[in-house]
Amino acid sequence: MKTVSTFNGARELADGRVGLVPTMGYLHEGHLSLIETARSENDTVVVSVFVNPMQFGQQKDLETYPRDAGRDSALASDAGADIMFTPSVEHMYPFQHRTVVSVGTVAEGMEGAHRPGHFDGVATVVAKLFAGLQPDVAYFGRKDAQQLAVVRALVADLAFPVSVRGISTVREADGLALSSRNVKIDETNRATALSLSTSLMLVADAFEAGERKSRVLRDIVRQSLALSQQLAVDHVEVARSADARTVDAIDAEAFVAVAGTVGGVRLIDNVTLDPSTGTADRGTRLTRPSILYGGS
Ligand code: AMP
Repeated sequence: MKTVSTFNGARELADGRVGLVPTMGYLHEGHLSLIETARSENDTVVVSVFVNPMQFGQQKDLETYPRDAGRDSALASDAGADIMFTPSVEHMYPFQHRTVVSVGTVAEGMEGAHRPGHFDGVATVVAKLFAGLQPDVAYFGRKDAQQLAVVRALVADLAFPVSVRGISTVREADGLALSSRNVKIDETNRATALSLSTSLMLVADAFEAGERKSRVLRDIVRQSLALSQQLAVDHVEVARSADARTVDAIDAEAFVAVAGTVGGVRLIDNVTLDPSTGTADRGTRLTRPSILYGGS
C-alpha cells in the first residue's frame, strides 16, 4: 500500500476500476468491512483519511476526534487497500473556501437539524474527493443512513459518474454500532449506550412481524429508551432511505434512526427496513472485542 497526500499522486497510482472508501480514520471493523467489500469489487482500492473540519460544528469535537495515522495505515493495508490518501487541510481547502455543496431537504432533518452545516461539510468534501480521485465506486456505511442519502443525492444532482454502495452496519459483540467515538464511552455509560441498539432490534422484530406504521415503530424505540435515564435522546425518526424524508408508513426501503448523547458522547444508530422482502438489516456483530480497544 502506498500513502499519498495529493489528488494527482493518488490518480497517478490508481489503475482500472477504482473503489473509494472515504473515512475520518481511527479505523475499526466497520471501516474494514467497507474496505474488504471494495477490495472484492475493484482493481484499485483507495482509502481516504481526512478529519474534515468543515463537517464539525464544535471545535472541541474536531480537536478531540481520535487520530492515529500509523495504526490506520497498517489496518487499511491488511484489509486490502492499495492507496491511502491522507490530504492535509491545506490541500483540501487551499484557499479561502468558496464552493459549498448543499443538497437541500435531504440534509435538513435528523442529524442535519441537530448539526447545522454538518451535511454541507460532508457533501462538499465528498464531492471534492469524487472530483479529485475519480473513483468508479464509492463505499459508505448504512450506519450513517442520512449521510448515505446525502451522498446519493449529490451524485444524482451533480451527475458524478460514481456508483454508491451502502454497506451494513458492523456492531460490537453486545450490539453497540461501531464508531470511533465508542472509545470515549466509559464502563458506567456502556449499558446506557447499548439501549440504542437494543431498541432498534425491537423495531426490527416488529417490522419483520408485519408492522409498517412509523408511529408504532417510533413508540417502540421511545418506550425502550425511556428505561435509560442517562440517555439524552435527540431524535427518533422513520425516513426513506432514498432521500431521508420522514414517512408515516413504510412502503419503500426506510430506516429507523435514533440519536442521543450519553456521558457527553453523541451516538447514532439505525436499522434499515425493506418492505419488498419484509426483512430488517440489523447489521453484523463481531464475535470478539473490537480492534478499537487494542485487540487484533
Ligand atoms: P467515519 O470515519 O466515521 O466518517 O466513517 C467512514 C465510513 O465508514 C462512513 O461511510 C461510515 O458510514 C462508515 N462506518 C462507520 N461506522 C460503521 C459501522 N459500524 N459499520 C459500517 N460502516 C461504518
